[in-house]
Amino acid sequence: MLDFVGLESDLGDEERLIRDTAREFVEERVRPDIADHYEAGTFPTELITEMGEMGFYAPNLDGYDLPNVSETAYGLLMQELEACDSGLRSMASVQGALVMYPIHAFGSEAQKEQWLPDMGRGEKIGCFGLTEPEHGSNPSAMETRAEAADGGYVLNGSKTWITNAPIADVAVVWARDKSSDGNPVRGFLVETDRDGFVVNKITEKLSLRASITGEFGLNDVFVPEENVLPGVEGMKGPLSCLTQARYGIAWGAVGAARDCFEVARDYATDREQFDTPIASFQLQQEKLAEMATQITTSQLLAHRLAELKERGDLRPQHVSMAKRNNVRMARDQARVAREMLGGNGITSDYSPMRHMANMETVYTYEGTHDIHTLILGQDLTGIAAFE
Ligand SMILES: Cc1cc2nc3c(=O)[nH]c(=O)nc-3n(C[C@H](O)[C@H](O)[C@H](O)COP(=O)(O)OP(=O)(O)OC[C@H]3O[C@@H](n4cnc5c(N)ncnc54)[C@H](O)[C@@H]3O)c2cc1C
Repeated sequence: MLDFVGLESDLGDEERLIRDTAREFVEERVRPDIADHYEAGTFPTELITEMGEMGFYAPNLDGYDLPNVSETAYGLLMQELEACDSGLRSMASVQGALVMYPIHAFGSEAQKEQWLPDMGRGEKIGCFGLTEPEHGSNPSAMETRAEAADGGYVLNGSKTWITNAPIADVAVVWARDKSSDGNPVRGFLVETDRDGFVVNKITEKLSLRASITGEFGLNDVFVPEENVLPGVEGMKGPLSCLTQARYGIAWGAVGAARDCFEVARDYATDREQFDTPIASFQLQQEKLAEMATQITTSQLLAHRLAELKERGDLRPQHVSMAKRNNVRMARDQARVAREMLGGNGITSDYSPMRHMANMETVYTYEGTHDIHTLILGQDLTGIAAFE
């Protein structure tokens, strides 16, 4: 596997073990069928608990039966999952970074005990409801609202593009608390079997097809007071979850690009035209050289992020730069790899075009490329250009 500047030599034993375990799991259990799942628009749900047993959900958190591995180990895990398919990484990212993380960071002791061990094992599944039909890039304009009622809250609104929603046991719903001064955004743990919770699967996707996506409506859904996440108020709640998930994406995208590179290099070495492997043509070598360079610089950025995160110096803007750069890189390199495979490159027998299509989602979710550009622009100039 491409590791041009020898990052392997800096890994600890635990990090190598986690990476190799994930790589082996992907090769044996997922890769053989992933193209079929992609074409069918299905996720290998039978693997969800197996992924839990292997510690793939929020392994970088501590307590509650969670292993508390290093941020590099977590990143390597995301990289290996996405080298197979962005849908696989999305499943683990949402469960770990968007659902378990806010419960761990902002939940009550009872909420943590109720959800974290089961979710870590993959016995309960979560989803994260922030995006609404009319509010994507600007979630602070959300219309979903919570009104205080006897012993709890009544929720109304709708959320769309929600990964795992159709199979989730619980949704972290971000809503405006209409009963508090200033209507702050608050997080609610909503069990999906509550009266008034209606979910539909989104089936028309041409990207991230091996991932289950849905929309849900909240029609006078009652949740008791103890289902409110007590530890956070305001947009910093959902945004801090997104920082965690984007960190995983910055690593994961490198995995997708690396897979494209490996497939293109193998293909170019085997495939002969004009009586010689196409890898012997300078034009093809230039593509491989550029791909390897782009992947290597993105890998370095991901590793640096892990160091900053480990010592508590990681800022959301660092993550924005890495998400923006690494996903754009993977999106571009998947297209080059596809091109190197000629006609075969447009089939599901090879991964690059699947990665290429997946990258359209990854480029868009968790803050679009444009939004991360604006976050960086604001950080660099002190001037916000969102509106
Ligand atoms: C497969 C999939 C899974 C998803 N999973 C989840 C999930 O689990 N939970 C969740 O809450 N959401 C999820 N999302 C939603 C995702 O985060 C949103 O799609 C994303 O934030 C963009 O919002 P939007 O689609 O409404 O696009 P819009 O916000 O309408 O943007 C459309 C275009 O306008 C551009 N734009 C917007 N504002 C500006 C600006 N100020 N300046 C310049 N350009 C701008 C954008 O960059 C984009 O190109 C998912 C999306 C997809 C596709």
